[in-house]
Amino acid sequence: MNTYIKGSTRLIGLLGNPVKHSKSPHMHNLCFEKLGLDYVYMAFGIQDNLIGKSVDAMRILNFKGFNVTMPHKQRVMDFLDEISEDAKIIGSVNTVVNNNGRLIGYNTDGRGFVKALEEEGQGFKDEKIIIIGAGGASKSISIQLAFDGAREVVLFNRTTHKAQEISDIINKEMPNSKARALELDEKILKKELKDSKVLINATSIGMKDTIDKSVITSPNILHKDLFVADIIYAPSKTKFLFQAEEVGCRTMNGTSMLLYQGALAFKMWTGKDMPIEDVKERIF
Ligand code: NAP
Repeated sequence: MNTYIKGSTRLIGLLGNPVKHSKSPHMHNLCFEKLGLDYVYMAFGIQDNLIGKSVDAMRILNFKGFNVTMPHKQRVMDFLDEISEDAKIIGSVNTVVNNNGRLIGYNTDGRGFVKALEEEGQGFKDEKIIIIGAGGASKSISIQLAFDGAREVVLFNRTTHKAQEISDIINKEMPNSKARALELDEKILKKELKDSKVLINATSIGMKDTIDKSVITSPNILHKDLFVADIIYAPSKTKFLFQAEEVGCRTMNGTSMLLYQGALAFKMWTGKDMPIEDVKERIF
């Protein structure tokens, strides 16, 4: 039993559905304990129609903040007092900070990915980046990469209009970067990859039910100078990453993105740096 919970302990939460699989409670509580911080992190499975009431509960119980995950990342924005500029552009919030009663929404997903890329020593500024997928995660990552200096972002998606929507946002909001949306066709992908250094899988292909599948049919479309990232972290090596290794590409899975989006939130809530090495050793 935890003996560090006291009358003064402040709550931090996770609102999502489902949340049972989440590593966030383990990650944050380990860090609170390690640094002797008077917080505790709890996960709450919240039905779609109850997100507004749940945010009210966070206010009433004076939570220091909370994370938000699927399916509430967009809808939660209606119930907050302020949204950061980048979260407004991305159109979703994954971290909320209670600043003296005002709930402020941020998005740390894209910044978590950029930090992970930097940790690998992989440059992206002034480069052409290719992203497969146009869901919520792709949107955060592609907008953040453009915001932080990628020269060009090319989005491939099964449903092309979703890639087009992200591309339009980048072209409108970030004049120093340009974006294009293309249909998910391997011949076109291979051609676009020739002058690109970074390829990212931001689809869900390769996890759980599709563990034996990859977003590409053959590794032949890749080249060995590519840095290949998959944002899936379970399994730790997707079929897509095995294909990339076959060609000799450097690779990265989604664990560091997960870790750094959490570390950014941790800093916002506590003002302290997350003890990253402890988290890597004990959790990932
Ligand atoms: P999402 O909004 O549901 O988007 C799913 C994406 O996958 C869409 O682009 C979708 O294409 C594509 N897709 C799904 N099944 C497909 C198929 N059979 N063929 C082609 N494309 C397919 O999900 P998300 O929130 O962006 O998450 C995507 C993945 O990222 C998940 O695996 C999630 O676990 C992971 N993730 C990791 C982190 C991290 O910290 N590492 C953070 C967030 C998410 P359509 O648009 O055509 O449907």
